[in-house]
Amino acid sequence: MLSISVTEIEQKQKVNFDENVKIDELQADVSAKLCFENLGEFIKVSGNIKGSLPLTCDRCLSEYNFDFNSDIEEIYAKNSLYDEYKPETELKEGQFITDLEGKKEIDVYDLLYQSVILTLPNKKVCGINCNMEHFMSEDELKTDTRMDVFKNIEISRKQ
Ligand SMILES: [Zn+2]
Repeated sequence: MLSISVTEIEQKQKVNFDENVKIDELQADVSAKLCFENLGEFIKVSGNIKGSLPLTCDRCLSEYNFDFNSDIEEIYAKNSLYDEYKPETELKEGQFITDLEGKKEIDVYDLLYQSVILTLPNKKVCGINCNMEHFMSEDELKTDTRMDVFKNIEISRKQ
């Protein structure tokens, strides 16, 4: 397991993590540059992950390479938030807080795994030339997949 010791972060105040990690479950190669900072009861992790992994296109089912490059910011609470800290823990939208529940290490592999998952598109399309003459914008790709059947009808009428 790839992890960082909470004690080490407390001693040094800041610990940098700069490594290439293979996430086997996703066949992802991740280049991670992270900084773990001691903030009293909390540990802040910030940095960047980039890399690529193979995805299967939802439309033509061919495999393609997806590149990601994403900034990370996450907060770990050293001890359980529920009793003492809950009233004060008002986090902005999209900010994650992970409860270490007194554990003395941070699972970096899991952090990277979760972070890569978050970069994946809802709708996987291999490219704008994917067997489709109709280019779909980002917004259209985010719509309900059940609508796809109507789009296909519309396209075949035009042809
Ligand atoms: Zn495709």
